[in-house]
Amino acid sequence: MLKDGSIAIDGPSSSGKSSLAKALARELGWIHADTGALYRAVALWLGRTGLSAEQEADICRHLPDRKIAYAIRDNTTRVLLDGEDVTDHLRTEETGRTASRVSQIPCVREFLFHIQRDLGKKGGVVMDGRDIGTVILPDATLKIFLVADARIRAERRFTEMQQKGIPGNLDDIQKDLTERDRRDRTRSLAPLIQAPDALLLDNSHMTIEDAVKWIRQKLPN
Ligand code: C5P
Repeated sequence: MLKDGSIAIDGPSSSGKSSLAKALARELGWIHADTGALYRAVALWLGRTGLSAEQEADICRHLPDRKIAYAIRDNTTRVLLDGEDVTDHLRTEETGRTASRVSQIPCVREFLFHIQRDLGKKGGVVMDGRDIGTVILPDATLKIFLVADARIRAERRFTEMQQKGIPGNLDDIQKDLTERDRRDRTRSLAPLIQAPDALLLDNSHMTIEDAVKWIRQKLPN
């Protein structure tokens, strides 16, 4: 079995990337790196400082003074913002919306690029995001472009929110996901696209276990 290397999993919002990447990393004894969490950490910082995602010049002036870093715990990444573990504050709808906006700013992508690349280069990593196979780890051992039907993605997100006690409406969630995907796919910098050498996996009607099995069969020995 492959000892180290990297697996890139890209795809639209709520396509199941993180759950799949986590399960796959556990099975391989690798690390799961959630790259969306880095963009969300920038969004959290903005919220705390009162800056809006439109204030690009101010963001680019102050961001280099911030310390955003990965810390590894239990085979997965935690995100530190100026030394504080903010991982548990990143999964709100508001943070996701702001993250989707700040991710279009070139200095933000440049700032986060090195954090992701450095971890990816160490090997033994399953990294999920939007541009992992195209920009961050173009030489990944295996690249997966993970998709799922828009309604099914909205239902998954709805269930996740219900479990956390967050109120939400299925149609609104679907509209929000669709808008985020449109922004991610049409931005000029590192848009969400399937890398030419990525395998397309539609997991609309698959369990996580099925998807892990499918991917393991594609890994070189
Ligand atoms: O995956 P997640 O929903 O946590 O990502 C939040 C936002 O960060 C996405 O909507 C996307 O705009 C951005 N993102 C990105 N590139 C990545 C990961 C996330 O642009 N590699």
